[in-house]
Amino acid sequence: MTVSVLDDALARYWGYTTFRPLQREAIEAVLQARDSLVVLPTGGGKSLCFQAPAVVRPGLALVISPLISLMKDQVDTLVGNGVPAGLYNSSLTAEEKRAVVAGLRGGRYRLLYVSPERLVGEGSEGFLALLASCGVSFVAVDEAHCISQWGHDFRPEYRQLARLRDALPGVSVHAFTATATARVRRDITAQLGLRDPVELVGSFDRPNLVYRVLPRAVLKRQLLDILARHRREAGIIYCTSRREVDALAAWLTAEGIPALPYHAGLGEAERSRHQDAFLSERVDVIVATVAFGMGIDRSNVRFVVHAGAPRSIEHYQQESGRAGRDGLEAECVLIYSSADFMKWRVMLEGNGELTDAARTLLRQMEQYAAGIGCRHRHLAEYFGDRHAGDSCGACDFCLGELETAAEPVTLARQILSCVARVGQRFGAVHVANVLRGNGSDQVVARGHDKLSTFGLLPRASVAEVRGYIQQLIASGLLRLTDDAYSLVVLTPGGLELLRDERSCPGLTLARQRPVRKDAARVRSRAETESWQDVDRDLFERLRVVRLETARQRGVPPYVIFHDATLREMARLRPTSLDALLSVKGVGARKADDLGEIFLAAIRSHQL
Ligand code: ADP
Ligand code: ZN
Repeated sequence: MTVSVLDDALARYWGYTTFRPLQREAIEAVLQARDSLVVLPTGGGKSLCFQAPAVVRPGLALVISPLISLMKDQVDTLVGNGVPAGLYNSSLTAEEKRAVVAGLRGGRYRLLYVSPERLVGEGSEGFLALLASCGVSFVAVDEAHCISQWGHDFRPEYRQLARLRDALPGVSVHAFTATATARVRRDITAQLGLRDPVELVGSFDRPNLVYRVLPRAVLKRQLLDILARHRREAGIIYCTSRREVDALAAWLTAEGIPALPYHAGLGEAERSRHQDAFLSERVDVIVATVAFGMGIDRSNVRFVVHAGAPRSIEHYQQESGRAGRDGLEAECVLIYSSADFMKWRVMLEGNGELTDAARTLLRQMEQYAAGIGCRHRHLAEYFGDRHAGDSCGACDFCLGELETAAEPVTLARQILSCVARVGQRFGAVHVANVLRGNGSDQVVARGHDKLSTFGLLPRASVAEVRGYIQQLIASGLLRLTDDAYSLVVLTPGGLELLRDERSCPGLTLARQRPVRKDAARVRSRAETESWQDVDRDLFERLRVVRLETARQRGVPPYVIFHDATLREMARLRPTSLDALLSVKGVGARKADDLGEIFLAAIRSHQL
């Protein structure tokens, strides 16, 4: 019985006909009132796991969410789909609060989104008592990793949520997060007092994301190359310092690519204006510091660039995971240099946070960055996923963009020997200049143009040699000193390789394959599939219609329809309401409300 009711609801309110992996299992746990812990990657569809049961189960579903801006979008989307939902948080005026309370008393909502401090903070008793009288059917705790210090976004108020159990006895509790590590999972279960929970852990691989890694060379050039692949598409560029954020945003804007900065140094009002401009598609590119990327989720982000390495693979997964939440193809590029890791160590040390755990996390991040191999596999294995298949078809390695050196050991020895000959007293760029035979002022002044290693790699670019040096650092053959200006020095392993060429079996080195201007880019599978038979002009036209409609209604565009839905419209080109209903993402309510507007655009496009 429940199954068909559920499938009905899915089609009617969301316009979907199938579930994503583990959604059905997660929904069943809620319907059976069994506590659960659901770990799905960003974009995996966690919201549906508590929204769908809220629609089919009698009573009120309570959703705890830490992010006020996301709360509003979710509620707007639900209401747009015909699901009565409300929210209660500090952004409401006294009058709005009274309206919500009246709505609760009148049993008008299926879901109520609440921020944690409203439930456990001062004066929350009255509100809890009200909830207890509303017949709460279950509690969903979104972003549940916020309860754990091992997660990446600890929020002390989350610690007190276990109290809900006393206020709402007999109500099942369901935790949702995208943070996969076992430690965080254990912490969530313990802190929330979950009872024999159903644990569902999804696959962390995001096949729609293409991962690329570039050794940092001329950053602006590298950014322009990436942006050229994403005209009029949304993207986030993460930088490590506020200064860099401001400079890049201003420079991009001057280059004709409007971009807004987003970081803690901006005033609250300005930040919220910039976030709003991004969400409502008035600007497509946001340059942000990682610390402040949380609220800037937009489902059709097509690229995320890190201009600097994050401090752990968990952080990278979380931040890059903001790309392609709508399931369509997107690109994640990490532009890094070994110095990034150095900076992190110095910074963490200064804050007294450079624990063994922090060092390990940094080293693992460095191994990802400098590693040569399938990026999807690397990430999947890191998170304990078994990964099927040899070639993902969606990373720089599998797409054939890297060229592995034919004789890595010889190459490594040339570089190590050059480091030794400049006396281990210079940085990577100087070493690269000597190897390339670039007689720069500094090289000549030091007499390094007379060295036997001068000009050993005449055809290599600076970026290429720096890339090799970084890979040798990650392999433990070289290391950077922690001076303000980092010097490249040999490690014991590096010395050993200079003495004995057999000491480092299995060493690989690779460089970015040079791209010819006329060469067509190899596309990932996801990209090819999601554009299959899509009339691109019509898609762009529908985006404009969506934007206009969103502005009239004062909601972000993706609350109207997701990109995936617009692409399907531009693929199937429906001209009747019936045909429109067969488009994924168009439910009955949406078809009623918006059908004619979009049908008119499709019809007129075909004339
Ligand atoms: P998460 O919270 O796990 O990051 P969301 O709940 O925001 O992910 O869902 C990501 C996207 O996937 C949304 O655009 C949502 O509408 C879409 N989605 C979720 N479930 C399905 C489904 N069963 N079929 C198609 N699209 C879905
Ligand atoms: Zn791959």
